[in-house]
This record gives sequence, structure tokens and C-alpha cells, in this order.
Amino acid sequence: MVLYLSQHRAELAGYGIDVPAYTGTVDRVIGELLADEALAQRREQWLRTELEYDIGKSDLLRVHDPRYVERLYSSAVTDELIAAFELIDSEGRYHRYAPERAELPLADLFLDLLGACAGTYQSSRVALEHGFCYFLGGGFHHAKWNTPDGFCLINDIVIAARRLLSEELASRVWIIDLDAHKGDGTAPLCRSDDRILTLSIHMAHGWPLDREPRLPDGSLHESFVASDLDIPVAEGEERLYLEKLQLGLAKFSGYGAPDLALVLGGVDPYEHDELPSTAPLRLSLEQLEQRDRFVYGFLKERAIPQAWVKSGSYGREAWRPIVQFLRYALHDRLGSR
Ligand SMILES: [Zn+2]
Repeated sequence: MVLYLSQHRAELAGYGIDVPAYTGTVDRVIGELLADEALAQRREQWLRTELEYDIGKSDLLRVHDPRYVERLYSSAVTDELIAAFELIDSEGRYHRYAPERAELPLADLFLDLLGACAGTYQSSRVALEHGFCYFLGGGFHHAKWNTPDGFCLINDIVIAARRLLSEELASRVWIIDLDAHKGDGTAPLCRSDDRILTLSIHMAHGWPLDREPRLPDGSLHESFVASDLDIPVAEGEERLYLEKLQLGLAKFSGYGAPDLALVLGGVDPYEHDELPSTAPLRLSLEQLEQRDRFVYGFLKERAIPQAWVKSGSYGREAWRPIVQFLRYALHDRLGSR
């Protein structure tokens, strides 16, 4: 199953925000998949385009600080969005933001993000029912308890997981984060929740790990709180990536199987990704293919339902690794390979 919500894509350009999250990526992915005759003929069996759930305040309150949630549901949401997308620089000037080019008020972006969050939840529900779902959105893994960070306002991954737990649709959830950047919002949010296990394989250095690890009061910055399993990959270690991931997942499976795995399939480790901060990790298309097939197969072999979200993907080439994986996974699900 693929979940493609054209109404809730949180396209940033419409809000006057300029990050290289090339707006055509998800449309291109769907176009390429439908260009495959066997997939086009059976689109009803794998493509969903309707959002069937809502995410509301009570869902956010399972994950975020109540005072922060109140701000999001007030006029202060604009300030939080400016902070999330770093739209004002240290000298108070607009940064990658041109309000005069915006077609929509910035505050509406919150509604889009709630929609994306609902997509992540829906993807989990579909995965529980059918074994696999890939949502072409979501993956806001930098959002923290009471602050936005790194283009992430609310942590859809933990929000979806906690809702499933509270609804007793799952009692244990794994979060497998393949995005180039450490899942540094997810880790502290789940640190004391033993129903959720977190794994993050990411760039050993660079954002968000280029910050001062200690706050002025001596406590650890949230970005440095460990996931249950962190797998840092240093610059130039691409050839070791798959082996590190395999060892990591083998270790992870020793904790016992969950009812669901949420996978952040970020393709920003791709060598042709255009976000400058991902430059230290440069996986080839082939290496990403091995990565995705390995994770998919690992979960399938163990009959663990898998809900993937797109997460990081920047620039004009980002569609390639996504299409490559989805062609493989969909033909496998449909038994047409
Ligand atoms: Zn990323």
C-alpha cells in the first residue's frame, strides 16, 4: 500500500518557504509507479489517496508539553513555525522566507502538518491490516517535547505510536530511523517509554550533532540523548553502512518482536541529495536499494507489520531511490515479481 495525500503534502513553497524539498518529488514518485503497466492496472490494490483520520490536540498531548501544544493552537503558532523552519536569522532578517511570495497564511501550515501526522497514523493502521504501507510524507523526527527543530513542528512518529498504544492496537512499537540525520527528537521523547524502541542510523557528525552537547546548566542537550540503538556512520564509511545496519537490526531483534515497525525511509543519505547538511553521507542508488530491501525483508521475514514514512528527501533526484524501493515492495506485495 502507498498512501499519497495530495491535499496534505505540506508543500513549503506555497507558504513562501524556500528549502530544497523539491515540490515535485511525491508527484513524480506516483507518476513513475503508474508508468509501470502491471502497477497501473492494479492501482486500486495498492494506492490510497484519502485521509481517513484526524489528529487533534489529545494526540499531541500524549507526546508534547501541554504549554507547547497550547501555543500551537493559538496565534503563537506562527512564531513556532518560524522557529521550526528557521525563517529568521540571528540578525532578525528573513532567511529562506519570502512572505510576499506566499499564497497561504503561514499559520495554515500547522493544519497541513496535522494532516501529514494523520497520514503517518493512517499508514500505521494500514500496515497493521495489510503488513506494509508507505506514506509519501511525514517523518518529523527532530520535533522535541516543547520546541520545534530542524523543519519539524510536531513529532508525527511518536504521536502515531502513542495513539496506537493508547488504543491498544499495539503494545510494542519499533521506530527504525534511516534518515541521514539523527532522530534526535524521537530519542528523548521515547527514552523513558519502554513500549517504544528506537534505532537511528545517521551521520556521525554534522547537524544536529554539531551543537554544544551540554547546556549552560550542565545537562545534556536533547540532541545527544541516546536512542535505544544509535548507529553513527562517519564520513567515508559508506561501504560499511549496510553491515552496520545489519548488525544493528540483529541486535535490536534480540529485544523481542513488536506489533509494528515505523520506518523512516529518508533518502537524504543519497549522494545526489541537495540539502547541504547531508553531504557527509553519500550512499549510491545501489546502496540505498540494498538498505531498503534489507530492512523490508528483515521485517517481512519476522511477520512484523511495517509502516514507512518518506522523511528526508531533498532536490530533483530524491524520487529515484523512493521509486526504486516502492517498485520492488509493491511487486512483492502483489505477487507480481
Ligand atoms: Zn534528514
